[in-house]
Amino acid sequence: MELLKERIRKDGVIKEGNVLKVDNFLNHQMDIELFNEMGKEFRRRFADVQVDKILTIESSGIGIAAIAAQYFHVPVVFAKKTQSINLDGEMLSAPIESFTHKRKYEVIVASRFLQPGERVLIIDDFLANGCAALGLCQIIEEAHAQVAGIGIVIEKGFQHGGQLLREKGLRVESLAIVDGMDAASQTVQFRD
Ligand code: 5GP
Repeated sequence: MELLKERIRKDGVIKEGNVLKVDNFLNHQMDIELFNEMGKEFRRRFADVQVDKILTIESSGIGIAAIAAQYFHVPVVFAKKTQSINLDGEMLSAPIESFTHKRKYEVIVASRFLQPGERVLIIDDFLANGCAALGLCQIIEEAHAQVAGIGIVIEKGFQHGGQLLREKGLRVESLAIVDGMDAASQTVQFRD
């Protein structure tokens, strides 16, 4: 998606450790006009797929999933990273290792929000090693629902998550795929 690539070139900051910081339009401040364009693009790419629900993970996935859901006309469920007293009933959970925070945690979804047979589209901001997406797939499986596809805003193609998910037969649509980035020159190479 050209608009997104331009924005990454303009505002993305490349940090050491293969981290792309895009907090002035995606991860902290959110550009809702851009989110709307991304939501439409997800809808266009998954036009042939039945989607009953969108699943994301707190916190950075929520904004884009919520905007995208307006084009799919389906509810959004977000996996929570902490157990809270407001979580009740039967829970589905999966362990996830955070790429940016370098720690392991459990993500939780109340099972009543994912019904057997539902077709669930996963949406997230980044795809790196695939741990977050695989955890969400595990939760969908536990619910006896189906993964309709995985929509990612920025895939880091030089990390193995995308390959791993595609090899499992999952349909992954990334709006921008970064094949390389260099912190010294602050340059990003995109896949066509
Ligand atoms: P994965 O589980 O695929 O290794 O990493 C995906 C998660 O890590 C995303 O939900 C995102 O929050 C975070 N992440 C991974 N790489 C980056 C990055 O380069 N920049 C930012 N801002 N977040 C990242």
